[in-house]
Amino acid sequence: IAWTKGQGWHSAKIVPYGPIALDPSAAVLHYGQEIFEGMKAYRHEDDSVWLFRPERNARRFQTSAARLMLPELPTDLFVDAARELVSIDARYVPPAAGEHSLYLRPFMIASEAFLGVRAAEEVTFYVIASPVGPYFAQGVTGVDIWVTDRWARAGIGGTGAAKCGGNYAASLIAQYEGYEHGCNQVMFIEASEKDRVEELGGMNVFLVGANGELVTPALTGTILDGITRDSILTVGESLGLKPEQRRLSASEVFSGIADGTFVEAFCCGTAAVISPISGFVTDKGEYRPQGQGFATTLQIRNAVLDVQYGRTPDEYGWLQRVV
Ligand code: PMP
Repeated sequence: IAWTKGQGWHSAKIVPYGPIALDPSAAVLHYGQEIFEGMKAYRHEDDSVWLFRPERNARRFQTSAARLMLPELPTDLFVDAARELVSIDARYVPPAAGEHSLYLRPFMIASEAFLGVRAAEEVTFYVIASPVGPYFAQGVTGVDIWVTDRWARAGIGGTGAAKCGGNYAASLIAQYEGYEHGCNQVMFIEASEKDRVEELGGMNVFLVGANGELVTPALTGTILDGITRDSILTVGESLGLKPEQRRLSASEVFSGIADGTFVEAFCCGTAAVISPISGFVTDKGEYRPQGQGFATTLQIRNAVLDVQYGRTPDEYGWLQRVV
């Protein structure tokens, strides 16, 4: 769908997947005026196909657009575009067995050709899709997390709450530093604020307390408002846990898992839903194992997946039927 200043959204079309033509001066290529979303369509046992909380993705997309001075795409256009693609590609939504799904990637780019720093007056919105297999093909296992304050993912007033490509380009260096230390993910902490825990490269983070607390960093404007995070807070409460969105420091995480105040840790996002965390590696090279197992983590994980795959009634009204 195209957008032109003064004209608004127009020229919606559906075309076979393939290369797109962009002028070499398109603003997105030089100044990174770009945002995206990640969401999934799930097939249920009865072969029906459903989107999970697509309006939340639409709203986050609007928040990201406002931060990057891109135009607002109305919620109904965003959701209709996703629905349309899923209904056309319904045969590619994998079977319910396992944890297969159809991943959707809506994105918006500044397609106007000019050189200079200003908000583009022509932009284009796309949605592409790809079937994805289970994140944990060999069963759910814990991941190790590299903890660093050397690289910031976002600062106050920055783009941390927006889902824009530049955030991910900037976090690659920390991600690769984590790989070098045998970790699968990096956890960013905000050094300027006395080691405040933020989030992972592409996931939010939770700690489970010994008394059933479900602790996650508060939305400070510097982290992404994850839809899985939000769903876990709701599902966790109905499982009898006590959600706490608050300031969390890295030292509290380390001392808490050492003295048993925190019994489990996990990270979450659309791709993996929930990954248990086995341990944290500090940038001083110390390993802080989380040795209490993953019982609560797996209980929450299954409760969220059960809603997504229609194995339990959708009491929260999160699913939207497409086919
Ligand atoms: N934080 C970051 C930086 C992410 O890229 C993602 C993935 N979109 C998340 C958190 C989790 O968000 P969601 O649960 O909406 O996928």
